Amino acid sequence: MPLPANPPLTDTALILRAAMFAANKHRDQRRKDEHASPYINHPLMLACVLATEGGVSDAATLCAALLHDTIEDTATTADELREAFGERIAAIVGEVTDDKRLPKAERKRLQIEHAASISPEAQRVKLADKISNLRDVAANPPADWSLERKREYFDWARAVVDRLRGVDPALEAVFDAAYRARP
Ligand code: NDP
Ligand code: ZN
Repeated sequence: MPLPANPPLTDTALILRAAMFAANKHRDQRRKDEHASPYINHPLMLACVLATEGGVSDAATLCAALLHDTIEDTATTADELREAFGERIAAIVGEVTDDKRLPKAERKRLQIEHAASISPEAQRVKLADKISNLRDVAANPPADWSLERKREYFDWARAVVDRLRGVDPALEAVFDAAYRARP
């Protein structure tokens, strides 16, 4: 899907363009819940949490939220994001992208280790990702997850968030409320 390249775009136009780009990239993917929800619901939920519950209005942060899983879970490259959305948005997405060449346990450990040192914009996207995923694990969990696995996920998400506290107390309070639903 070719995107028109005639910046400068308004913030609203940029955000809608990021939503379109992500919808296209994730178009054949589903989440892991029993209904196999459309994948795009998840990036949309992050942006919605940031804007409606976190009071975030920075367009780069909202675009990065919409795009946050494109490099990790689709064939999208950092160069492609740089070209379509600019250096700043591509950098935030890069900061929240796991290195898929590493084993899963190592990726999860690195998320805890790196959470304190990424940019505040990336920390907000990460907070929204954990809020969204905790809500999903509580209400729409992967079909085959045991109680123990759900609890492990909650505790790992909390370990990540505990390393970035102070960046955005309002969003951290939203996370803490989501954590209180730990099964
Ligand atoms: P996965 O990483 O495989 O799955 C969780 C990720 O799936 C989320 O971070 C989210 O990532 C994505 N996702 C998609 N749909 C949903 C949904 N409906 N609800 C929540 N998340 C969804 O699992 P784990 O995080 O558990 O990682 C694997 C680890 O689990 C291993 O390191 C292993 O140690 C442990 N494990 C534990 C088992 C147990 O029974 N206790 C069994 C097997 C493994 P995103 O937002 O990026 O898309
Ligand atoms: Zn995500």
